[in-house]
Formats: sequence, C-alpha cells, structure tokens
Amino acid sequence: MQEYEKLYYDVVIIGAGVAGLYCARHLPKSLKVLVLCKNEPWECNTFYAQGGISVARDKRDIALHVKDTILAGAKHNTPQSVEKLSRDSLIVLDELLSSGLDFDRDTHNNLSYTQEGGHSLPRIVHAGGDATGRILHTFLIDSLQHTLWKSACVVDLLIEDDVCYGVNVQTKKGMVQIYSNHIVIASGGIGGLFQYHTNASTISSDMQGIILEHGLELANMEMLQFHPTVYIGAKSARKHLISEAVRGEGGMVIDSCGRRFLFEYDKRGELAPRDIVARAIVDYCAKHKERAFLDLRTFTKDSFAKRFPNVFRELSACKLQIPEALVPISPAFHYCMGGILTDNTKVRGMQNLYAIGECACNGVHGANRLASNSLLEGLVFGKSAALEIAHNMRKKPARHFLKQEMVLEKEGDSKLKGIIRKIMWEKVGIIRSKDSLNTALGGIEVMLESNIGRMLKLRLLVCRNIIQSALKRKKSLGAHYRIN
Ligand SMILES: Cc1cc2nc3c(=O)[nH]c(=O)nc-3n(C[C@H](O)[C@H](O)[C@H](O)COP(=O)(O)OP(=O)(O)OC[C@H]3O[C@@H](n4cnc5c(N)ncnc54)[C@H](O)[C@@H]3O)c2cc1C
Repeated sequence: MQEYEKLYYDVVIIGAGVAGLYCARHLPKSLKVLVLCKNEPWECNTFYAQGGISVARDKRDIALHVKDTILAGAKHNTPQSVEKLSRDSLIVLDELLSSGLDFDRDTHNNLSYTQEGGHSLPRIVHAGGDATGRILHTFLIDSLQHTLWKSACVVDLLIEDDVCYGVNVQTKKGMVQIYSNHIVIASGGIGGLFQYHTNASTISSDMQGIILEHGLELANMEMLQFHPTVYIGAKSARKHLISEAVRGEGGMVIDSCGRRFLFEYDKRGELAPRDIVARAIVDYCAKHKERAFLDLRTFTKDSFAKRFPNVFRELSACKLQIPEALVPISPAFHYCMGGILTDNTKVRGMQNLYAIGECACNGVHGANRLASNSLLEGLVFGKSAALEIAHNMRKKPARHFLKQEMVLEKEGDSKLKGIIRKIMWEKVGIIRSKDSLNTALGGIEVMLESNIGRMLKLRLLVCRNIIQSALKRKKSLGAHYRIN
C-alpha cells in the first residue's frame, strides 16, 4: 500500500491558540517542535478574546479566587486543578510582564483590574482595552521560536494501544504523516456545532471527534456555556460578542420598556454568572414576548470607545450610535467546559498524548466557567504540559502506519452541517428537555448512518456525545439546564 510523505518531530502541538503557543514557548529550543493550525494562526478563539485574564490579586486572594471558581462551577470542579490554576496565575502573569507583554494600567501606573460576573472582586487584567486576546496572541506568535504550519488540519491521530505515534495532517500540498515523541492537542472548543456562536471559524471539534473514534473519553460535554450578550444584528454565524466587562462596568440589560428584568432572576442583576443571565434573557423574552437590549448610556462615547475599542468599532460598523442606541442582544454558544478527559495535562489512558486549553477537561471549570478563567487555563496548563514533556523526552520505538483511504468531505456535507447547527441550537441549547434531546439524538443518528465525509462524521460523533451526556444528567447543574 502507498505511504504518505513522513516527517519526524520531538513534539507536535495541534493548535496555535494561547494553550498551544504557551506550551511551545516553554519547550526548549533544542527540541524539534512543530505547531499546527488550521487556516491562519489568528483565526482562533484566543485572538477574539476581549475581557481579559483573571489572576489572583496576590497570594492572599488565591483562596477567594478558588472559591469563586468553584461556586461558578457548581462545585463540579476538581479542586486540585482549580488551586493550581489560581496559584500559577501569579507566576504566569509575572512571566508575561517580565517578558514585555504589558497590560492596561491606571493613572498611578498600577495594573488596572476589572471585575466580571461571578468574581468577588476586580481581578481581570486586560490589554488594549478590550483587545486582550489579540495582543496576547500577537505577542505569543511574534516570540514563537519553533516551526509553525498554517492551513494544516489534523485529520487523525496515529494510535496503537496506549501510545500515540503521530498525526495525519491535510495540508495544501496533500496528506502528510508526522511522527512524534509527544503529541499535544490544543485545538480549542466546539463553536462550529451551533447555529449561533461567538467562536472562530476554525473551531469545529475535529480533535474531540478523533478522540471518540479511538475509544478515548470526553468528559462533562453537557456543560456548555452560552454567552448572554452578543449583538444579533450581524448576519454571520460568529456573532459579535459584547464583553462581560461591559456589564461589569455599567452596561445594563433592559427590555423594550427599559425594565432591568435580570433582578427578577438574581439579586446580582447584570453581575450574576453568565448562565443565569443567559437563561433569564431567554426565559423573560419568551414569557413576555419581549426583546432584550444592552443600555450603554452610563458611558460617554469617549469613555466607551477608549475602554472597549473593539466593541465600539464593531457596533459602529453596524451603524449603531454608541452610547445612545439600545443594542439588541441575545445569548449564543460560547465556551465548552467539557472536553478530552485529562489527568492534569495527560489524556487519560495514554502515555504521551496531552490535551490543554479549551479542548481539555481537567476539572478546572466544573459545570460552569468563571469569566476570564480560560485564557488563564491555557497559560497555566500549556506551561505544565511543556514541563512534563521536557522532563520525559525518551524516544519511542519506531512504528509506521500505512496510508488510510479517507474522504474528508462529500457533496451534501455543507447542507447537513447547517442542519446539525440548527438542531444543536434549538434542541441542545440553553434550555433542554428529555424530548428535545431525544429528538436531537434521532436526527444525529440518522445523519451518522448517511453517506458523509470524515470531517462531518467527527462533528456528529461529538454532537452525539454531548446529547448522550445531557440525557444522562437528568437534573440541572451549572450551565446544564433541564426543564424535564
Ligand atoms: C469572542 C470570545 C471572547 C472571549 N473572551 C475571553 C476573555 O476575555 N477571557 C478569557 O479567559 N476567555 C475568553 N474567551 C475564551 C477563550 O478565548 C478561549 O477559551 C481560549 O482562547 C481557548 O484557547 P485554546 O488555545 O484552547 O484554543 P483556540 O485559541 O481556540 O485555538 C485553537 C487552535 O486549534 C487549531 N485547530 C483546531 N482544530 C484543528 C485541527 N483539526 N488541526 C489543526 N489545528 C486545529 C485552530 O486552528 C487554532 O489554532 C473568549 C472566547 C471568544 C470566542
């Protein structure tokens, strides 16, 4: 049988968001490291992150940061992971500052911390106002000392028993087989499965699907976070997100009569955790046949444009006069708390396969993510994986895999993709019932039996896993909300 072009690296990292790049940053230059990403490197969720990075204010704040995280996560978190997240936040912040990445500062040149929903105090550092993700990502890309391939989509892992030998990658030049001692999955979440979402176009759960195909585990996949405030005027599936910090700093959610209805659902109003806000908006609008708006009139035009330049630019481009105009909003899928089951960073059951960042489930977020803990997760666990790998660079015995025949896409896949997104949004979204989940499962099973390409099959496997997890968890918990 014919073989692909073969290459060898010490470490292959799948994904060039914060998790993959921070992992690469901590791998010695002496190692041969390859970072892979789909499309262009900036087309990732990291680049689009706005609000900032949560960090413990100092050592004394660690206990409260942990408490806030576990409270937001409905106590479904793994405490050791949360403690590591908060403890190491001080270390990664120092590393970033000392290597030249600066964050916004107040008039006394102190770091300017903002507060977001669920945090007991202001502990979010941000850069360029609301451009934290873009600035962090640009910094990590500019300082990357290893090789990066763009437009390189991993379509399979080369696994035998509990060892991963490498990856099959679709590139512009064709399929390439890359062998490696260590393989790190940092491929982000699952936004592409939903009709309305905030995620980058590269985020479509391919690697989570591959994990399932190989009989490995995803965990907590019913725990999906919907961002409460996206601008719904835009036509694209990726909706413009209006950062949590806008509500934290004075933006109010109102109905068409100006009523701040969130207080009817939670005494924290706009500062309640995002799942409570998202559900309240859906419930209130359905019950009262109302629409929800964001009222930004507590800001001046200049103060808003300075603090939230991205949101200001995007809304102005949609011809909204800020701050006077009321901004029509809705929730949209935003973040996946579940993912590839790991012990710290190692994929459970595997010797040399790691998962970090949004694709992983190490228990940090529990049943709901505390705002701005995810960039931090990418930094802390990205570094942790690198340290583990650097201490364990033993070479594996050689092993060669023959070419597999794969049809990545078939005619009709794109139409089915649209149907999947609609099913997932309507039946597996913010408010779920046994009936809605069973209907969704039926639809997904039928599509799995049809004549589809590999990439669509991977998406469907993940959808099925999400629905089965949601069916199994009969009671509401955190972001998972069941009405029956
Ligand atoms: C609009 C928006 C705003 C946000 N704001 C914040 C915030 O303020 N604070 C915060 O903490 N979090 C925020 N988040 C969440 C946070 O941005 C993400 O959780 C985090 O950036 C994920 O990082 P990552 O490295 O795991 O994945 P990503 O940054 O999403 O990167 C994934 C990478 O994997 C690659 N990839 C995917 N599949 C494949 C494949 N098959 N083969 C090869 N490569 C692949 C992609 O090309 C990409 O390079 C926000 C998210 C969004 C969408």
